[in-house]
Amino acid sequence: MSRVWSGAERGWMSRAIDLARPQRTHPNPRVGCVIVGAGGKVVGEGAHRGVGTPHAEAVALGQAGEAARGATAFVTLEPCSHSGRTPPCADALVAAGVTRVVIGAHDPDARVRGRGVVILQQAGIETAVGLMGDEAVRLDVGFHHHRRTGLPYVRAVVADADARADEAVAVDIATLIEEADHLLATTTGPRITTRRTLARLAEQGHLYVATEDVETIGALRRAGLVDAASHYVRIGGDQDGLWTQDGLRVMEAGEIGAGYRRIDLERSPAGWSPLVCRRAEAAIPTPYGRFRAIGYESLDDGRQHVALVRGSVKREEGVLVRIHSECLTGDVFASLRCDCGFQLQEAMRRIGEAGRGVVLYMRGHEGRGIGLIDKLAAYALQEQGRDTVEANLDLGLPEDSRDYGAGARILADLGVNSLRLLTNNPAKRAGAEAYGVRIIEQVPLIAGENDHNRNYLRTKVAKLGHVIDMEDRPPGSVRETTEKD
Ligand SMILES: [Zn+2]
Ligand SMILES: [Zn+2]
Repeated sequence: MSRVWSGAERGWMSRAIDLARPQRTHPNPRVGCVIVGAGGKVVGEGAHRGVGTPHAEAVALGQAGEAARGATAFVTLEPCSHSGRTPPCADALVAAGVTRVVIGAHDPDARVRGRGVVILQQAGIETAVGLMGDEAVRLDVGFHHHRRTGLPYVRAVVADADARADEAVAVDIATLIEEADHLLATTTGPRITTRRTLARLAEQGHLYVATEDVETIGALRRAGLVDAASHYVRIGGDQDGLWTQDGLRVMEAGEIGAGYRRIDLERSPAGWSPLVCRRAEAAIPTPYGRFRAIGYESLDDGRQHVALVRGSVKREEGVLVRIHSECLTGDVFASLRCDCGFQLQEAMRRIGEAGRGVVLYMRGHEGRGIGLIDKLAAYALQEQGRDTVEANLDLGLPEDSRDYGAGARILADLGVNSLRLLTNNPAKRAGAEAYGVRIIEQVPLIAGENDHNRNYLRTKVAKLGHVIDMEDRPPGSVRETTEKD
């Protein structure tokens, strides 16, 4: 997705965004489309205008007629692949003879999510995703946020009684709430206390939380339940830091009347959990029993992950799950420098025995997220006496840069209700829980301690908080090796 776009291409996508912006389409997303024919001439354009009306692509294709043949379509959102009240737009683009489709952002809706692009590609259409991607997402941030997280887009309006008594502020707040695409409710902070409450409201759209007191919104912010805020502050008072510490970034400060200004804040979409798409599925017989291997692609970074599923896990509680980070040297070559390969085998054995469970094999987690080459470089430093954490830090790399968002999304797709997580690493549990995964138990996974990795495991205990009892080992858990170095 890191390609360079021409000024003309940006111009056409801007036009598509501008067409979509004024539309009120909830619960459908805002979408704009511009079709550019030979010589860079716009031959058709349009926007979706709401439920029951044609999609943006259909409007633009209708205008273009025969001129769509050989043309490029610029569309703010991935063309749909499912039949709703209207036939799939991906099929319509194919039928019209469009040869290239440039897309602002993937459709996060579970019914599309990468499938629109696949339909186009299978028909031989050149596709590109990500032109003005941030702007395309902001066009309907509530839609993207809801489809990714299952939660409504919550905007807090924070103004104390004095501010609300100021007429300019009162008018501004009314306008702000009126502008909401699909205002669900205006309520005070304390009534919205849990993700569960929000999830129940999610289908209905935006939620505005209005509160008088900056402090009452604090708990919601810290729980990650506020996605954006407009905060009215007295001119002269500087409260920007109050929000940025909670991951909201200051967008702009507008002047409201004489005495107040409005600070708009929002959480960066970069912090959203990634979009994963189920791509293929096959049975894999193993020494530990038969598993279904389900291949997932993360649409945000193109990484491909595998869920190895044993038995039925949908809507089950307490499913045994291993979230395994790819380790080529350990998993494939049985390297004795770490315990990864042994843990993977042990997890598969335990899940095979239980008859129900999931091994998530997460790619791109090599060396706790630093990559294969840097991991080997870190090994070289360890040969000079550094431990695993020091070596990563010496290379200017974070000690653990893995992200559990994709794993959480895959577990959600599999329909697992709650799980028992096979890990010695409390950070892994916390990382998954941060994305809403319900973990009812952390189950230790002891395997593969040996003379080569004993120091490595001790470092994981001492510096990374791993819970392994290094002294009290069951006999036979130590794999002896004849090779000494
Ligand atoms: Zn469509
Ligand atoms: Zn390893």
